[in-house]
Amino acid sequence: MKKIGLFGGTFDPIHNGHLHIARAFADELGLDMVVFLPAGDPYHKEETTRTPAHHRLAMTELAISDDERFAVSDCDIVREGATYTFDTVQIFRQQFPSAQLWWLLGSDSLLRLHTWKKWQTLVKQINIAVAARQGFSLHQAPQEIHAWLGEALQNGRLKPLQTPLYDISSTELRRRIGRNEPVSDFLDRRVENYIRQYKLYKP
Ligand code: ATP
Repeated sequence: MKKIGLFGGTFDPIHNGHLHIARAFADELGLDMVVFLPAGDPYHKEETTRTPAHHRLAMTELAISDDERFAVSDCDIVREGATYTFDTVQIFRQQFPSAQLWWLLGSDSLLRLHTWKKWQTLVKQINIAVAARQGFSLHQAPQEIHAWLGEALQNGRLKPLQTPLYDISSTELRRRIGRNEPVSDFLDRRVENYIRQYKLYKP
């Protein structure tokens, strides 16, 4: 059976933390493919700080090109209106009806799972891998997901990745770039060049 990993994110910009957990995701679960899914542009006018989707998509394409298991899909970018993980997963279930699907999350995102559209149905349709993130332990899980969390850890539908923490965020990188601080340790060289070329994240 094919095993496919899905990895949604804003990727603003994609950084080595994303690549590090995606590699661990593929290695530890023996995935045939990991599809990166950059989020679309915000449909609420109020949220204007996000970099346009075509830039985030281009940076993601550059960053993943060395690993042949990695692919990018624009399916969350081309859909109109709000895009929910639930709907994205339905698209992949239709496209790969006999595959086992895995979704990758950082632990900060997992702790908000109960706020996602139809999350209880979603967790019956896919398996979830979680990468530890500094300051976000599964012990802090809100009451709403306690029962599911215990059961999913037991039956293997939720897999904590074993790979060490990689403590970086896009927020921190945007801040550093804005202040002309070095970022080479955290970004793919091609992504860094792209950011420079289009003068992204400059005040
Ligand atoms: P921002 O700082 O803008 O919120 P981010 O660095 O968290 O961005 P996203 O694109 O929002 O990046 O993250 C996509 C997914 O990757 C989320 O599930 C997030 O938890 C996870 N993630 C991002 N960076 C890391 C990291 N360093 N370690 C583990 N998980 C991470």
